[in-house]
Amino acid sequence: MGERFDLISIGGGSGGLAAAQRAARHGVRCAVVEAGRLGGTCVNVGCVPKKVMWHAADIAHCMEYAPGYGFDCGNVTFDWPTIKLARDGYVTRLNGIYGRSLEQNGVQLIRGRARLEGPHAVVVGGEQFEADHLVIATGSYPTIPQLPGAEHGITSDGFFELEQLPRRVAVVGAGYIAVELGGMLNALGAQVSMLLRHSQFLRGFDAVLRETLMEDMLRDGVNILPRTQVRSVERQADGSLCIACDGATEILHVDVLLWAVGRAPLTAEMGLESAGIELSRDGAIVTDDYQNTNVQGVYALGDVTDRVPLTPVAIAAGRRLADRLFGAQPDRHLDYRNVPSVIFSHPPIGSIGLSEDEARDQHGSAVTVYQSRFTPLFYGPLEHKRRACVKLVCVGPQERIVGCHVVGLGADEMLQGFAVAIRMGATKRDFDDTVAIHPTSAEEMVTLR
Ligand code: FAD
Ligand code: NDP
Repeated sequence: MGERFDLISIGGGSGGLAAAQRAARHGVRCAVVEAGRLGGTCVNVGCVPKKVMWHAADIAHCMEYAPGYGFDCGNVTFDWPTIKLARDGYVTRLNGIYGRSLEQNGVQLIRGRARLEGPHAVVVGGEQFEADHLVIATGSYPTIPQLPGAEHGITSDGFFELEQLPRRVAVVGAGYIAVELGGMLNALGAQVSMLLRHSQFLRGFDAVLRETLMEDMLRDGVNILPRTQVRSVERQADGSLCIACDGATEILHVDVLLWAVGRAPLTAEMGLESAGIELSRDGAIVTDDYQNTNVQGVYALGDVTDRVPLTPVAIAAGRRLADRLFGAQPDRHLDYRNVPSVIFSHPPIGSIGLSEDEARDQHGSAVTVYQSRFTPLFYGPLEHKRRACVKLVCVGPQERIVGCHVVGLGADEMLQGFAVAIRMGATKRDFDDTVAIHPTSAEEMVTLR
């Protein structure tokens, strides 16, 4: 018999840490098994280093507008290694903070790769540990398409290893990561081509968001190649890459190819079959609304499931699970509806709930839409202006707000408060009755006609 715990989290990322730490606060004995760096994707190769680079790109955008505000910035240069060093240092400090937080909460950290041996035991480096409750929170990994030479490309993981700003980059993909990293690289001075297999990016999002962003990215010089698929990739003698494509552009020469074509759940080679855990066709762990798998005492949450793959979602699911198991809150679980999210593009996008098209599909003529396109005051005195847009999607005679979408300067910080209101069932009237804050972009949300 190995050492016994009440709960073991497999994976020391957003979800696994949250579940174990909350359970420990309820007074039970917990451990976290982590094969890599504490904090998982978000801290090491996701949200945190990404947001640092977004700020760098934001400064580059500000430089563009600074002369209009009277600043003579002279010969501004950008040094990628400087921000990479600072960013890596910050991430390392966070790794340490996460480790100390586990210690403070009395959670044991087991270093190594876990393999299940039945539903209540895991083996790490030859040692066995047992638990009444096993939480699988192993996350996901970036995928690469199967085509000749695909291995010459990098993924978002490789983006964070780049030691220098590449001169020419091809970004393949159409989701969050493609638009975020493509936008940043472009702002920082790379020549970026984005290869979309359809005609637009961010297809699941409200049309007004993607159309506004596409306009801005084109204006910023991103070479967007719609309906273009990679056929093969070849490394040239000088180290550059030659990409053969199906589409209007047939050959692209770049220094870096970045695959941003989605992520897959990390469930292979973990012994899940030994515990009889059910997987979906794409390898995700199947759970019910309470994070239960089909095996009693085994739970899954975060990116390893097929739910919304966002950090706060994994954290919220983990905390609620621990509250349910050990906090005498038998019905506690995460409601996956109305999860707000932000895309850190330039300009940023904030979105919660249904897009206009989704609302019309679900509610037909009961849908009313309010929208405002405007120029944020920041651009008022400047020659080159960028537009912003806010949109509310409402349903029924009470005009309950089922979708709220915003693109433009400040959208990233604007949505959180509105998300609270929408979760509470706010109507258009509630928004109308709220006194505006002037002069802001957010006031557009409560002055829509
Ligand atoms: P992870 O955080 O991936 O943690 C899983 C952990 O399990 C890892 O540390 C891994 O090493 C460990 N592990 C795996 N297998 C084993 C094993 N067998 N034994 C032991 N340990 C194991 N989300 C946002 O909300 N906002 C953002 O801005 C954002 N930006 C992102 C940017 C990028 C580039 C990427 C890739 C993702 C981003 N995300 C963002 C998504 C977010 O990072 C994930 O949704 C979140 O990290 C998922 O948490 P998790 O706990 O499910 O998995
Ligand atoms: P996404 O699922 O968001 O997007 C990937 C997209 O790439 C697909 O939607 C698809 O778009 C396109 N695609 C898929 N296969 C191919 C292919 N073979 N060739 C060309 N294009 C292809 O995945 P990401 O990797 O961008 O991000 C993963 C998740 O991480 C996100 O869903 C998000 O939840 C999270 N994340 C969150 C962030 C945030 O909160 N700011 C930032 C980054 C990630 P289409 O079908 O239109 O071609």
